[in-house]
Amino acid sequence: MGRYASVYPLVSTREITRPFTYLGDGLEKGSVVRVPFGRTRRRGIVAEVLDTAPDGVTPVSVEDVEGAIPPSLVDLALWMADYYGSTPARALALVAPAERKPRKKKLKEPAEPDDAPIPSGAEVAPSLTSGQHAALERITKAFDSGGGFLLAGPTGSGKTEVYLRACAAAHERGKSAIVLVPEIALTPQTERRFRARFGDRVAVLHSGLTAAQRRDTRARIATGEANVVVGARSAIFSPVADLGLVCVDEEHDSSYKHESDPRYDARSVAMKRVAMEGAVAVFGSATPRPEAWERLEHLTLDARIGAPMPSVRIVDLRGEQGYPLSAPLLEGLERCAQGDGKAVLLLNRRGYASALHCRACGRVWRCQACDVALVLHQDRALHCHHCGYSELTTGSCPDCQSTEIARLGAGTERLEAELQERLPGLELFRLDAETTTERDSHAEILGKFEAAERAVLFGTQMVAKGHHFSGVSLAAVIDAGTELAAPDFRADERTFQLLTQLAGRSGRDRPGRVLIQTFEPEARPVILAAQHAVEEFLGSELARRRELTYPPYCHLVRILLSAPGEHAPLAALAEIRDILADATDATILGPASLLRLRGRHRAQIVMKTGEPRAVARVARRVIAAATPAFRRDDVTAVVDVDPQSL
Ligand code: ADP
Ligand code: ZN
Ligand code: ZN
Repeated sequence: MGRYASVYPLVSTREITRPFTYLGDGLEKGSVVRVPFGRTRRRGIVAEVLDTAPDGVTPVSVEDVEGAIPPSLVDLALWMADYYGSTPARALALVAPAERKPRKKKLKEPAEPDDAPIPSGAEVAPSLTSGQHAALERITKAFDSGGGFLLAGPTGSGKTEVYLRACAAAHERGKSAIVLVPEIALTPQTERRFRARFGDRVAVLHSGLTAAQRRDTRARIATGEANVVVGARSAIFSPVADLGLVCVDEEHDSSYKHESDPRYDARSVAMKRVAMEGAVAVFGSATPRPEAWERLEHLTLDARIGAPMPSVRIVDLRGEQGYPLSAPLLEGLERCAQGDGKAVLLLNRRGYASALHCRACGRVWRCQACDVALVLHQDRALHCHHCGYSELTTGSCPDCQSTEIARLGAGTERLEAELQERLPGLELFRLDAETTTERDSHAEILGKFEAAERAVLFGTQMVAKGHHFSGVSLAAVIDAGTELAAPDFRADERTFQLLTQLAGRSGRDRPGRVLIQTFEPEARPVILAAQHAVEEFLGSELARRRELTYPPYCHLVRILLSAPGEHAPLAALAEIRDILADATDATILGPASLLRLRGRHRAQIVMKTGEPRAVARVARRVIAAATPAFRRDDVTAVVDVDPQSL
């Protein structure tokens, strides 16, 4: 047994990237310790146990041992730090989050849901369809060899049932399972089904837990008392022993990417963890990413269980009078008002109107700190959706005094006003950033809609996410073009996913109809979504990506600089670009200016490469060397490996 340990003190500073040697007995790789560090004390993680101290080092003693994480998580964190260009300490802090001791005065804790102690085995598992059976066979066979699968099938085709059975199969082999879901608080059905099937063996990790509940849950996982973990993104770091299976539900969901340092993607981390521990990964979605379709073995469930796919109609807005409510949509909503099922409407734009425009001189009201149009809200104020700036409307143009002011682009508030006026018989539930600011309001709105009879749920993309509503007969997209125009190579993919996911809300338990309103009825994602042609979309999308060399046929690394001055980001990126062009084989796009946000000018370069780590390493070295100049000009830099949006 070594007497020394190589420890990473958990500090957030970027300058410290190496471990330090301490003296201590009985330590192991993964021990969580308290160590003196400079003039302070820090938590630290033991990365290695040593027999001798390095030459010239006189180590001080570890003060305390707080606990331990599985050694495999240390390796996972070090990989993550390297791949995403963070520091070991920052990555280790994610896999070993601080567990605060219980406070003396006990705070009132939120009550567990009523049905939480449903006993194990309450629920009888249905006998599997042949598709589910084949998928499960393939997955269980891989428990001996490891592997990664894509479970593709429309909403309601029985994917969750396959996860449940695969978890049970892992348990039979004495192994544990992690199930990732986009946001557990919003998918109470999924939580309920896992609890009903596995009882106390389930641990649910979500953002609503108090510190004490989180500590207890992690303890149940660490002791093995709970061996099926269900949770959002960070649940991939659960301290389970003997990992057998990781399921990633709704694998296309953008919430799997962490947007602050370390900028990890839980799907890539899941694949890495599974490979390191010899486990099996099952990614599931009705709209898989091209990346997953290309890289993983396909398991397909082709049909909804107990219901046909809804019929889809494209409404060409160029030939319609009413916007946002066209005649066919009004007719569909009137049927709902007469008692023929509920409706779900998607409009991916907040506010009342997305811009104000002076008809006389062409002025558009813009934010002074961001290069975006101000959005008109029902309180008659104009709001910036990026920085929160707002101003009151005056009714005339400050430049030319004209009163001919046009409101462009309907948002969710305008839709609400139209629905109120045209369909007084329907109960309205709006779901967007404004109506969900309170902690539980999101789940509350969904619960009320579920219980209502003649009702419309409408809002931004939140309405299209994984909810299984009963009684919905109509789903409609108000304007399919909101995503298509985005300057991002994933614009088509996002559009296809959004339309298909929204369509999946309709007709789960009664005949369903879907309407897609659009000014671009010939767009490929619109046509293929209307035909439920998932494979065809992925095939054509992959062909396009191959031709243009985009992921999955390369990796992207993005460098984004921002500064108060207009020239600093572009000038610095031009220099960085030259260095990278010499030092790496990356194809470099840009520098390109981006929209100004919160008063800061921004620009980026995007690199295509087969060696993202090598490119990111050079990028970081160059940025580190430029630190003094960046400090002077107040430039901040972000290196994003495998970015999810450009
Ligand atoms: P998905 O995850 O693909 O949306 P689910 O697993 O939630 O699909 O299944 C959809 C519905 O069908 C659920 O109500 C589920 O209980 C039910 N179900 C799943 N598999 C079967 C089966 N083999 N036989 C009968 N019903 C099933
Ligand atoms: Zn004007
Ligand atoms: Zn702004």
